[in-house]
Parts: sequence; C-alpha cells; structure tokens
Amino acid sequence: MIKKYYLLSPGPTPVPETVLSAAAEPIIHHRTSEFSDIFMETVEGLKYVFQTEQDVFVLTSSGTGAMEAAILSTFCQGDKVISLSGGKFGERWGQICRCHGLDVKEVTLEWGEPFTKEQLADELKANPGTKAVLATLSETSSGTVYDIQGYGEILAQSDAILIVDGISGLGATPCPMDEWKVDIMVAGSQKSFMIPPGLAYLSFSPKAWDLVEKSTLPSFYFDARKYKKNLKKRTTPYKPPITIKNQQKKYV
Ligand SMILES: *Cc1c(COP(=O)(O)O)cnc(C)c1O
Repeated sequence: MIKKYYLLSPGPTPVPETVLSAAAEPIIHHRTSEFSDIFMETVEGLKYVFQTEQDVFVLTSSGTGAMEAAILSTFCQGDKVISLSGGKFGERWGQICRCHGLDVKEVTLEWGEPFTKEQLADELKANPGTKAVLATLSETSSGTVYDIQGYGEILAQSDAILIVDGISGLGATPCPMDEWKVDIMVAGSQKSFMIPPGLAYLSFSPKAWDLVEKSTLPSFYFDARKYKKNLKKRTTPYKPPITIKNQQKKYV
C-alpha cells in the first residue's frame, strides 16, 4: 500500500498525482527527437516562468548546484562581490563565493529586515570595483521577500550585475527577470514548481553573459557555456533525469 504524505514545507512541495504518475512512463533516450521536443517545450515554459527572452538552462542538480554554476561560470579568482545575507540561503551565496576564491563583502542583515535600494547604492559606492551583487528573492529561512526590482534599477546604472537566488521565490512571488533587470536568475524544481527535487534552472542576461565569456574559474559540469552550446542543438550536455523531465512536461 502506498502511504499518502502531506508535505507542509517550502520544498519539497506536494507533487500532484497526474505529475507523479508521469514518472512511471518509459525512459526514452535523451539523444532523440522525441526527447528534444519535450525538452524544448519545457524550456519555452521556463522562459515564461522566468519572464525572459534569454535561454534558460536545465541542470541535473539541486538548486544549490545552479547557485554554484552561476558563480563558476561568471567570475575570475579574486573578483569582488557583495553578498546580501539575511538568512541561511543568503549566507550560502557567501560560502560558495569564498569557496571559489572570490573577494566577498558580506552585508549581514537582521533576519526578516528589509534592505532598501538606497542602502544597496551606498554599499556599491563604498565598494568600488564590485562585479556583482548576490541577493535572494525569497529568503526561505526567515520568510522575507527582498526588493529585487529596486536592486535591478540600481545595478542597471552600474557595471555590476545582479544575481538572484529565486529557488523558493520564482513562481510564488513576482520577479520578471528581464523587466526587473536581473542578470542571473537561479531556480529549482522542488519548490513552487511542484515537481520532485533534482532539476535546477539558470538564466543569464547579455550583460552577465559578457562576464561568462571572460570567466576563468575552473568548471566542467557546471560550465554554463556547455549548456548554451547544447541548447542550440535542442539538448542538454549530460544525461538528464528523464523521469523528472516527463513530470516537468506535465507542468511547465
Ligand atoms: C531551498 C533553497 C535553496 C537550496 O536549494 P536545494 O535545492 O536544497 O539545493 C537555496 N535557496 C533558497 C532561497 C531556498 O529556498
């Protein structure tokens, strides 16, 4: 007998039965036109959720993998970044960046307190040469939604890019990537998307992609350039989890 569970957490979230049953469909090969058709349909759906004209890459990893991919694909050792840390997941941005040798200015916020675009403008002024600001759309650990739109306005007037962890927020609270001038958006499958954990999504603005072209941090699996090249061929660089793909097709 299969027990019924009710998940009352920010993620994983409950997966509807029609979506769950898609996991029982046969595994198809990922280098086939059948797969490519499903894949490209889901990528179009993701572009709608992200509200972007840019490519959205699909990674086989949890959300944190896409956070790391964003960093590895974009920076060079010693690059200066400002990380906004108002909870567990904001802290994670700082940890990932330090792990890869970036020069991190961590702005520690009271949990649950807002951080205004004016405060961000002051931080930028105090830290010349900043390449990026790392923010969180919805800080799951404190339930705080930050002013991504405001940060986008400020950063659009500078050379720095805005990187947003939208893993729990995207799809639950508005954050149109292109309109709000988000340069890198990260999301994951198991929260507002309501599919199982295992897929992560990543998109870059043209301003961010210029940095990707110049990035020298070593990366292999998480090198966004490989995902872009393969998306042109209607596929992913490495084997995707077909069962979740089938489920994603039911949804996005
Ligand atoms: C859940 C969550 C993460 C971590 O995602 P994983 O899929 O567990 O790696 C990161 N950021 C936020 C805001 C989250 O809610």
